[in-house]
Amino acid sequence: MAQKRDYYEVLGVSKNASAEDIKSAYRKLALKWHPDRWVSGTDAEKKTAEENFKEASEAYSVLSDPQKKARYDQFGFDGDQMGGGGFDFGGFDLNEILRSVFGGAGGFGGFGGGFDFGGFGGGSGSRSTRGQDIRTRVTLTLEEIAKGCTKTVSIEHNRPCPECGGKGTKNSSDIKTCPTCHGSGQVRQAVRGIFGMQSFSISTCPQCGGKGKVVSNPCRRCHGTGLERIREDVSVQIPAGVQEGMQITVPNQGHADPNGGPNGDLLVVIREASHADLLRDGVNLFYTKVISVMDAMLGCEITVPSLDGPYKIKVEPGTQSGTVQRIRGKGLPAVQGYGRGTGDLFVKLMVWVPRKLSRSEREKLEEMRSSSSFTPDLSRDDRAVFDKTKNIF
Ligand SMILES: [Zn+2]
Ligand SMILES: [Zn+2]
Repeated sequence: MAQKRDYYEVLGVSKNASAEDIKSAYRKLALKWHPDRWVSGTDAEKKTAEENFKEASEAYSVLSDPQKKARYDQFGFDGDQMGGGGFDFGGFDLNEILRSVFGGAGGFGGFGGGFDFGGFGGGSGSRSTRGQDIRTRVTLTLEEIAKGCTKTVSIEHNRPCPECGGKGTKNSSDIKTCPTCHGSGQVRQAVRGIFGMQSFSISTCPQCGGKGKVVSNPCRRCHGTGLERIREDVSVQIPAGVQEGMQITVPNQGHADPNGGPNGDLLVVIREASHADLLRDGVNLFYTKVISVMDAMLGCEITVPSLDGPYKIKVEPGTQSGTVQRIRGKGLPAVQGYGRGTGDLFVKLMVWVPRKLSRSEREKLEEMRSSSSFTPDLSRDDRAVFDKTKNIF
């Protein structure tokens, strides 16, 4: 295993950083490296992102827990090898951490409301803006999910006006510094704080809308906004194994920023079309096949659907109703960064019993009714069929 980096170094904070500094440092790293943001990156980028994300999450899981932090401060990584204590620095619930960091500003009484992502982007009055994200949906079949695919989505996004090049006017001399905010794009207003202390709130300048500049002779095409809404087809790489509700980020395909910052992203939410035959649960697929009593008793070959076409399986003589056959590797692949390997296809065999018999059929069966072969015998592993499998479907 590679040498571990110091947790403080990983988060880029000093040893005496406050809980809020630690949280804010982790929040920035998590936003940057979350695997969801890198699904359309190269393999090397994805790997780097995943590693950085895990490293930061592990560091935060320890430094955000006063007990673990104290232990780490005292003993370093050796703290978990001291025996008895059972200190597992590596084991942590990622979802719990993300929820605690991004699930709202609660828990820190010092803040007023509406401050959720206040720390993002440096905070110190920098007006680093970016265009708005756009969210769209794409519906995929299980066959598409199994292999991964490229989908084209048609979206409308703002782009710089071609007439004025995004400036809002044709002549640069018509662009003046905003007289209200003197170019900062922000205005400060005195407000009364919670404990009666005077403080300042900073908000976007109402005259220039944050641009810091005003245009006296606006472009006729875009009316001075500098932007134009256009419809475009964007192709989206969908990795194999995605699930309903997952989100693919296509960088820069969101709206252009009216202030000249980077474009927003296009967020593509995955919908999963239900399959005519197969049921999905994570990476596994399930299918129920009804067979005749004779096929169950005598054995046969059957064809079951799979995502890469019909698949033949053998039904052994003496197969019990409810038997589940597992076909390894015929499920779905795990989406990169969320697991390993490929799931299986589970086929449940149900035996159909005839409702009507002809006179001669009935007579033949009556002859066999009392034969010992037809008396249920659960002494063998058949019992497992009735116990274990009942929860699978
Ligand atoms: Zn224009
Ligand atoms: Zn202004």
